[in-house]
Amino acid sequence: MTVTETCDVLIIGSGAGALTAAVTCAKAGLKVIVTEKADKFGGTTATSGGVLWVPGSRHAKALGARLGVDDDSQLVRTYLRHETGNCYDEARIDAYLEYAPRMVEYLEDNTEVKFYPMEFPDYHPETEGGSRIRSVGSVDYDAAKMGPLMKGLKGELPQTLFMGLAIGSTLEMKQFLAAGRSPKAMAYVVGRMARHFLDVARKGSSQRIVRGRALIARLARTAHDLNVPFWLNAPATGLILDGDRVAGAQVMRDGKPVKVLARHAVVLAAGGFPRDVSRRATEYPGQARTMQPVTPAPITNIGDGVRMAEAVGAKFNNELLHPAAWMPTSKLADAKDQNGVWPHLTDRNKPGFIMVLSDGKRFANESSPYHDIVPAMLEAFESRGCDRAYLIGDSRAIRRWGMGFVRPFPIPKGRYLRNGYLTEGQTPQDLARKLDIAPDALAQTIRDFSLSARDGLDPEFGRGESLYDRYQGDDNHQPNPALGPLDKGPYYAVRIYPGEIGTYKGLKTDANSRVIGQNNQPISGLYAAGNDQSNVFGGSYPGAGATIGPAVTFGWIAARDIARRAGVEVPGGA
Ligand SMILES: Cc1cc2nc3c(=O)[nH]c(=O)nc-3n(C[C@H](O)[C@H](O)[C@H](O)COP(=O)(O)OP(=O)(O)OC[C@H]3O[C@@H](n4cnc5c(N)ncnc54)[C@H](O)[C@@H]3O)c2cc1C
Repeated sequence: MTVTETCDVLIIGSGAGALTAAVTCAKAGLKVIVTEKADKFGGTTATSGGVLWVPGSRHAKALGARLGVDDDSQLVRTYLRHETGNCYDEARIDAYLEYAPRMVEYLEDNTEVKFYPMEFPDYHPETEGGSRIRSVGSVDYDAAKMGPLMKGLKGELPQTLFMGLAIGSTLEMKQFLAAGRSPKAMAYVVGRMARHFLDVARKGSSQRIVRGRALIARLARTAHDLNVPFWLNAPATGLILDGDRVAGAQVMRDGKPVKVLARHAVVLAAGGFPRDVSRRATEYPGQARTMQPVTPAPITNIGDGVRMAEAVGAKFNNELLHPAAWMPTSKLADAKDQNGVWPHLTDRNKPGFIMVLSDGKRFANESSPYHDIVPAMLEAFESRGCDRAYLIGDSRAIRRWGMGFVRPFPIPKGRYLRNGYLTEGQTPQDLARKLDIAPDALAQTIRDFSLSARDGLDPEFGRGESLYDRYQGDDNHQPNPALGPLDKGPYYAVRIYPGEIGTYKGLKTDANSRVIGQNNQPISGLYAAGNDQSNVFGGSYPGAGATIGPAVTFGWIAARDIARRAGVEVPGGA
């Protein structure tokens, strides 16, 4: 027998956009239910860096004043016009630039959420209007404040933990990577690890929740304080229509059907379609179209939200520059889910690494943003008739930085050589033979690259010229933080795939996050946030936090619109 539950607002999914909409609606006095398909809440967001791109936030303004960097919304618009090209969506970008800074203030002043300013170059800082003050990070949270809620909070990707410890900010990561060479960094790491082991001894696990998981924990704490129930193991399976209006959804709660009637709205925030193989086959280019996903996104993100909306007449927006937020990834041979996949955020851009195709030649600036390097890989596959890419490093580089799943020295790498993740060759030719690459081509590539890298130059792809490349490099490396020769054998390789951290194509929405129907009008009662909504930046990636920034902002905007239409006080003011 189907049970019926009633609420004001039903939120489908539990990532950052979903929970922002939930707490904001609940603050407005609306009765909210959050329903989540997985057995934990948090989605991809909980395993993310927790960075948001919010030009004009109060943190950005304070940081800009401190650094003497001017920024204003016209500069941001100029930058975004360059980034988005023909996909500039004026109405939604205007909404973003107005409401994202207000969302930061609202969450900080009314919930547990806290952010900190980051000096982080935009992904194309030399483009007109580019800057380095627009990203904010999520402040750590204390597990003790979560109480029993902790049981439902999704964990970090286990492969990114170091002895059970989740490393926090980019700056903390830099300390860990520099520990072998800097006494100051080593002292930091020893202190950090000591606190971690003390927590484990006393409480059974680390008490410090960091990055995206901290953002989710803080939102969940507030939601819980506002009596918002989180249903876990409870996938929504279809929307309920009352005439033209979406009036609720069917949910399978612990295997039993529940009809949830939502008086005011349903918010879809089910994380897009990174694991929907059939939609990828129509929306992705090149090799990414047909391959099995190699993504750190959860196995539950199979496009349910988009499908449910389409079933009630919603429009899917596929007119974007890119279908997904790309990420070069690698995987363990027995990978079954996100835990067997490595997102290559921080190794490929360090001195001593290059990337090559199966013809033994480089194809792009390895230090460029992840969203740029994958399209370059896909194009090169097609134009050069190749089907594989590799990250290659010499023994100094792998020892210092690690390589995907392989950790820096002194953590042993034998396991990865044995399970086939990592390939070792005494010389470039030896490595090439093991990878089935032309030995002379790879040796020549490494020779040519290394010759220029010693002088801090990359005549082929200009690596190390951008502030972004140097930021992602090794601060202590001269003459160019992004470039170092590969000249100390043995040599190592990891196979790289054209992966993603989430999808960009998605439901067409208006500036209030309302889902647009085939008649180009909003579908009454239906909203989308996060990656269920098509990307506001037209499929580009302007800077760090360019997916969670919109997820949270448009979740907040949705809640405000729902409150306005419900006739209650609008959170954050008119
Ligand atoms: C390692 C990594 C680091 C990243 N770092 C950043 C960063 O710092 N900044 C940034 O902007 N982006 C980052 N990203 C990308 C970012 O995490 C995602 O784009 C974003 O979190 C997606 O949010 P979402 O709410 O759309 O989806 P999610 O956070 O994935 O939430 C969707 C939820 O919906 C649930 N769901 C699915 N179907 C249903 C259903 N039928 N019923 C109920 N629930 C359902 C899923 O189980 C999931 O829990 C990173 C990604 C990764 C993997």
